[in-house]
Amino acid sequence: ADGAQVPALVIGSGYGGCVAALRLAEAGVDVQLVEMGMAWDTPGADGEIFANTTDPDQRSYWLRTRTKQPISNFLGFPIDRDIARYTGILDAEDFSGITVYQGRGVGGGSLVNGGMAVTPRRENFGAILPTVNSAEMYGTYYPRANTALGVAAIDPDWFETTECYQYARVGRRHAQRSGFPFVFVPDVYDWAYMKQEAAGAVPKSALAGEILYGNNHGKKSLQKTYLPRIRATGKVTVSPLHKVTTVRPASGGGYTVTLEQLDTGGATTATKEVTADRVFFAAGSVGTSKLLVALRASGALPRLNEEIGKGWGDNGNVMCGRANHLWDPTGSLQSSIPTAGIDNWAAGGAFAEVAPLPTGIETFASFYLSITRNPHRAEFSWNSGAGRVELNWQTAWKRESIDMAKSIFDKINAKEGTIYRTDLFGTYKIWGDHLTYHPLGGAVLGKATDNYGRLHGHPGLYVIDGALIPGNTSVNPFVTITALAERNIEKIIATDL
Ligand code: FAD
Repeated sequence: ADGAQVPALVIGSGYGGCVAALRLAEAGVDVQLVEMGMAWDTPGADGEIFANTTDPDQRSYWLRTRTKQPISNFLGFPIDRDIARYTGILDAEDFSGITVYQGRGVGGGSLVNGGMAVTPRRENFGAILPTVNSAEMYGTYYPRANTALGVAAIDPDWFETTECYQYARVGRRHAQRSGFPFVFVPDVYDWAYMKQEAAGAVPKSALAGEILYGNNHGKKSLQKTYLPRIRATGKVTVSPLHKVTTVRPASGGGYTVTLEQLDTGGATTATKEVTADRVFFAAGSVGTSKLLVALRASGALPRLNEEIGKGWGDNGNVMCGRANHLWDPTGSLQSSIPTAGIDNWAAGGAFAEVAPLPTGIETFASFYLSITRNPHRAEFSWNSGAGRVELNWQTAWKRESIDMAKSIFDKINAKEGTIYRTDLFGTYKIWGDHLTYHPLGGAVLGKATDNYGRLHGHPGLYVIDGALIPGNTSVNPFVTITALAERNIEKIIATDL
């Protein structure tokens, strides 16, 4: 409520925010968890909470009047459509050289992501977070995160026989015929539920193509893992449709946080002020970076250092499709949850996931999301003329990522006698190089903060989300974001409270 005083306020309810809220509450601290998106706990007119990927509506996008689908075309035809402006679940946030996709709502990115829950290979960890003790991470915090998130691998026998992973078996065969290491990708999807979907015993989610705009069943998003535990403590107030706009030192100590309450059209209906002893920035890499850059520029938090806004990367995301021969179908029923990966990181700087194209028809296509060792890092800065935070990423910086992905797919195409699809991202465009699902960095650990996320210059302010990670995790990022948050909050609770 307006004028309230709280011991701890957490901005954002994704992985970092949920870890902070749960562990603080368990330590006896009352927490206000503030989220700009909706609660996603009430069915829409069709009786479902979330819209299907094949039939986007107002629930699908954050304050857009037209969809911006990551795969924009099919067989050359544009597939975007007009929708009503609404505080929907997926934000396609446009910066000059890149569109950054992010989840909006209580649960953050866990609401929209594929649930691929990958712990990086230990030999790569030093390059991911060079100042963090890897023995502690692999001995304590990665296991803690995997357990709390409900990570599990597919039953390998079921994988071999189920119709819905034919596309992944084709992906594996092509990878292995070209000599690439194949790996199973663990996920937070409930695999027992998916088997029941395949048996026709329960309502379908992964097998109905649900993913980008939310899963109505089966996926263990934060709504099914951390958030029920947070509620059970009785110590956390969750405030959906509240956006934090400023944080500044309060005269009597602590920080005054300004919140704008939003309606579902995105308009501000009330402005509130809350005073908090401690504030945790967990608004995601982009959200946290935008807030901190603006607060430093406006003088609200003048002692933030020159590292704020720096070290941002796209985790090297790049997408492509391959056209298979007519005798090599990938199946008309495709689980929306990927479970197959091609690990060419050591040799070629690319980890490619065999992704579905859940169109409901046979496409004879293999589709991939590659994570690559892209060397470029961008910076957020304040544009005073335009009154907004900008990011100086350039589309041309994806060149290295494309070359790394080609180290896999050129070879597979040569071996199989196949070609790239050119109809998925426009006409005659092979590479999906205009986007990322994996924003990382902007308030890097050990630079903008100390080695546990304490912001330099303003005691009592912390960063605890993907903004801490300097641009790349070599695999999908949320397990690392969760494990790092578990490590940092344990230290903060032990020493700062
Ligand atoms: P987020 O989860 O982004 O949470 C930040 C929250 O803060 C959001 O809910 C946001 O609405 C809120 N917020 C922002 N600004 C404010 C503000 N000013 N006031 C109040 N609230 C605010 N990763 C994987 O590991 N595996 C996958 O399979 C995978 N698939 C993905 C698929 C898609 C389509 C997308 C978009 C992402 C995917 N990711 C995946 C990435 C993963 O979801 C993110 O890395 C992760 O969610 C980031 O966690 P976070 O805690 O840093 O922030």
